[in-house]
Amino acid sequence: MKVLVPVKRVVDFNVKVRVKADKSGVELQNVKMSMNPFDEIAVEEAVRLKEAGKVSEIIIISIGPQQAQETIRTGLAMGGDRGILVKTDQITEPLAVAKILQKIVADEKPDLVIMGKQAIDDDCNQTGQMLATLLGWPQGTFASEVKLSGSSVVVTREIDGGLETLKLTIPAIITTDLRLNEPRYASLPNIMKAKQKPIDMKTPEDYGVDISPRLKSLKVEEPTKRETGIKVESVEELVSKLKKEGAI
Ligand code: AMP
Repeated sequence: MKVLVPVKRVVDFNVKVRVKADKSGVELQNVKMSMNPFDEIAVEEAVRLKEAGKVSEIIIISIGPQQAQETIRTGLAMGGDRGILVKTDQITEPLAVAKILQKIVADEKPDLVIMGKQAIDDDCNQTGQMLATLLGWPQGTFASEVKLSGSSVVVTREIDGGLETLKLTIPAIITTDLRLNEPRYASLPNIMKAKQKPIDMKTPEDYGVDISPRLKSLKVEEPTKRETGIKVESVEELVSKLKKEGAI
């Protein structure tokens, strides 16, 4: 069984994001970039399935700049077998990514695509759903548990009202939620080994996909600063303060 794991290179989740002076976007110069956290969870899940003897090959894919090769190497160090970098310096929107992944799926014929539920840079939460639609494959989004058995996969999903369990027929798309697993740190020997693993270099043109942006950002702004709160001693004090401030 073959699994594809698409991974996006994003601003590291520990970085305090700064808006560019001209408000055209966020500052990416000299900022630490890492694999999208939900994608680490996707790689971890694929590696666990391989360790359980249910998966034979894991292919790590990224669509992004040359440096996204490092993101792929991280996935290979965690246990991926080979990589595909689709190189572009443009911003990658979900539909363009889904169209490229659709072409890679046609070439590679995987049984599963396991990907993040959302990328933490643009928080779109769209690519997995779009890919499932383009392929006409079943989708189990926001997975908190994945069980593979024969030609089906049982996915427990985190939804507003609780948990939903779906049985999908393979091939299928799974998107990962936070509680699915805790990704491993790659060991030094595995980081060294990953340097020898092959990464195919491609471009969007190789797949005949036009990735020019369909969305235009008008302006990016910092959220308004929240005032620090105060503690009150009693309900009466709270009510009188709210009245004074005209809140009630
Ligand atoms: P999004 O729909 O942008 O929130 O992204 C959802 C998921 O799609 C991510 O967690 C990744 O698994 C995948 N994805 C999105 N953009 C890319 C990209 N440029 N390269 C590889 N995978 C991507």
